Amino acid sequence: MSNLATKVAVIGSGISGAVCASALARNGISVTIFESGRGPGGRMSQRREIAEDGREFVFDHGAPYFTASNPGVLGLVQEWESRGIVASWNEKFGSFDFASKKFVDIEEEPSSQKYVGIPGMNSICRALTLEPGITSRFGLGVAKVEWLESEGSWSLTGFNGEDLGIFKGVVASDKNTFSSRFTNATGRPPPLDLSIEPEVALKVKEVPVVSCFAVMLAFEQPLTLIPVKGFSFKNSDILSRAFCDSSKPGRSSSSERWVLHSTGEYADKIIARTGFQKLSSALLSEVAEELFQELQRTGLHIPRPLFLKAHRWGSAFPATSIAVKEKCFWSGNKRLAICGDFCVSPNVEGAILSGMAAASKFAELPVSSL
Ligand SMILES: Cc1cc2nc3c(=O)[nH]c(=O)nc-3n(C[C@H](O)[C@H](O)[C@H](O)COP(=O)(O)OP(=O)(O)OC[C@H]3O[C@@H](n4cnc5c(N)ncnc54)[C@H](O)[C@@H]3O)c2cc1C
Repeated sequence: MSNLATKVAVIGSGISGAVCASALARNGISVTIFESGRGPGGRMSQRREIAEDGREFVFDHGAPYFTASNPGVLGLVQEWESRGIVASWNEKFGSFDFASKKFVDIEEEPSSQKYVGIPGMNSICRALTLEPGITSRFGLGVAKVEWLESEGSWSLTGFNGEDLGIFKGVVASDKNTFSSRFTNATGRPPPLDLSIEPEVALKVKEVPVVSCFAVMLAFEQPLTLIPVKGFSFKNSDILSRAFCDSSKPGRSSSSERWVLHSTGEYADKIIARTGFQKLSSALLSEVAEELFQELQRTGLHIPRPLFLKAHRWGSAFPATSIAVKEKCFWSGNKRLAICGDFCVSPNVEGAILSGMAAASKFAELPVSSL
């Protein structure tokens, strides 16, 4: 069988899967990443958009930045900085209060160092998936992960029924691989049937999620009445945060680009109208317009943007963390790891910690078992 040389399959190329794959490969384990999206990054994505006049704009429409405090994560971040794929985003942040129509809590000194990928948030995952020992297959979602008892291996099948190969181990880095949300969205059973591993199934729980709309805006001129480059909103039912994408290091400054995030409540209200079906472009335009108009209500003289578009994140943030201590789920018998931000904390640092923990489980196995 052609794939026997490949040892571990990592499902998902978000930061948890990418960090895990990188650590496995550095440990001499050959890895194949399967990613249903067109490129790496997951919720640390970057999006290229073309305006009506043909101008191209790039936005970090998922996580705008991340922070780190764990020494192991900080060590990785330092390595990424030295490779030029991460830099500090040293701008002022604050809050805008709709009640007083004023900026409040503007940081004199940043409360924590903010990091961004260079030139996009997805650059870290991209660089990791290109490391030696890793084969990455994008646009290839895994529909079925089957344990072959007689071979002591896993067989993976793609969404179109394609045979993706046999693997000695599997890392599932997205909760949808085992959750009923996958069934709600696709009408199919989740790829990974955890009933074959009762001990893990007992511990893994459905994870409720918080949804979010991100709205991307490009302006000809800087928004000079905004004194900060990132802020949260107080007393808005619609907007939660705003970030000036074009102020990040390594980005083009030929236009002023902002990304707005909706509140979870606003996103829920819209999603209640449609379920998790693909949203019509009319509804996405309505969302974009509503968030933009709320921004205009700040009174900060926000002109009509050159470009305005909304993106739905149905599962932006896990609402609970289900493996805070262990950081991942692990079946040594079957060499199955489950990781992702939903295990540790709903942010990039939590996802990195979980990916690192999953890789370390494989490192504890006797060499002969892989
Ligand atoms: C709008 C928004 C704002 C955010 N703001 C912040 C912030 O300010 N700071 C911060 O630290 N974090 C923030 N986050 C959260 C952060 O982005 C996530 O915690 C982190 O990126 C999660 O990484 P992950 O690897 O666990 O999951 P993901 O990034 O979701 O990766 C999972 C990957 O698996 C793939 N996949 C799923 N199923 C399959 C399958 N069957 N086959 C193949 N591939 C599959 C998915 O396509 C995806 O690429 C934000 C997120 C969003 C959406």
